[in-house]
Amino acid sequence: MVRHAIIAGGAGFLGSHLVARLLSEGYHVVCVDDLSTGSEENIFEHLENPNFEFVEHDIATPISVECDKIYNLACPASPKQYMTNPIKTFKTSIFGTINLLDLAHQQKCKMLQVSTSEVYGDPTVHPQPETYLGNVNTTGPRACYDEGKRAAEAVCFDYQRQLGVDVRVVRVFNTYGPKMDPDDGRVVSNFITQAFKGEDITVYGDGSQTRSFCYVDDLIEGFCRTMARETQFAGPINLGNPEEYSVKDLAHKVLSIVHSSSQLVYKQLPQDDPKRRRPDITKAQDILDWSPKVSVDDGLARTVDWFRDTRKN
Ligand code: UDP
Repeated sequence: MVRHAIIAGGAGFLGSHLVARLLSEGYHVVCVDDLSTGSEENIFEHLENPNFEFVEHDIATPISVECDKIYNLACPASPKQYMTNPIKTFKTSIFGTINLLDLAHQQKCKMLQVSTSEVYGDPTVHPQPETYLGNVNTTGPRACYDEGKRAAEAVCFDYQRQLGVDVRVVRVFNTYGPKMDPDDGRVVSNFITQAFKGEDITVYGDGSQTRSFCYVDDLIEGFCRTMARETQFAGPINLGNPEEYSVKDLAHKVLSIVHSSSQLVYKQLPQDDPKRRRPDITKAQDILDWSPKVSVDDGLARTVDWFRDTRKN
C-alpha cells in the first residue's frame, strides 16, 4: 500500500532533501510550499514523478489532504529571511503548526514538528540538552522565529496531551549542504559564495562565537528515525552535529577548501546573536541510535562542490 506523506516547506533547503528521501522510500509525497523562501528549482527534478505532487499554499491557512504522515518544515529559517517579514514568520510558525496539528488529528496520523536550536536563544548552559529551558529575548529582532518556534512547540505538546496527537518534535541545529540558498545570508552560504568570488569574507563580531554544523544527509536520517520509531517519546529531541567551531575557524576552513585568497573583514555582530551553540545529542543517541556520520571537513567539501557545479556564485 502506498503511504502518503505531506511535507510542508518541501521546496526549501531541508524540505527538498526530505522529499527526495521519502520518494526513494516509495512514499507518495505532497509538497506544500508558498515559495516565499523555498524555490521550485529545489523540487524541479521530481515534477514528472507520478508519486510527487506540488501544492502552492501558505500553511497559515488550513489545508485538507489525505495523508499517513505530516512533516512540518515550513518557516523561513535564516535570520535574514525570518526578520524580513517577522509577522509572517510568526503566523507561519504558529498558525501553520496549529493547522497541521488539526490535520494530524483529523487524519489520525503522525506528525514531525521541525523546531530549532533557536529555542535556546543565547544559551547560558553549554552544550545544550533538551532540558535546558533557554534564554530568549522576547522582544528582540530574533523573537519572531525563536518565540514563534517556542509557541509552536508548546501547542504541539498541548495537542499531544489534550487530543492524543502523535507529534514528535525535533530541534534542529545549524545545518548545511547542497541546495542551501546562496542568498539566505547564512554563514556557510555567505562564506562559500564570497570565497568563490574572491570577495571579502564578512565575519560578524570578532568571529569567536561558535556554531556546530551538521551535514544535511545526517539530519534527514535523524528525521526519518524519529518518525520510524513505533512509540512516542517524551519531549523534544536535539538533532545536530556536536562538532563546534568558531565562525573565524569556519572562515579559514572554507578558504582552504575553495583555495581562495579572500580576506577576512569584521562587521558588526547582529543583536542577540548567540555566543555559543552546540547540541547535547545524548537523547538522540539513546532513543534513535542516531549520531552524525559526516565530518565538517567532508561535508564542507561536498557543499563547496555543489556550489561550484551549480555556479551559484
Ligand atoms: N555570520 C558571520 N558572517 C556572515 C553570516 C553569519 O559571521 O556572513 C555569523 C552570525 O553572526 C552567527 C553565525 O555566523 O554568529 C551563524 O549565523 P547564521 O546566520 O548562519 O545562523 P544562526 O546560527 O545565527 O541562526
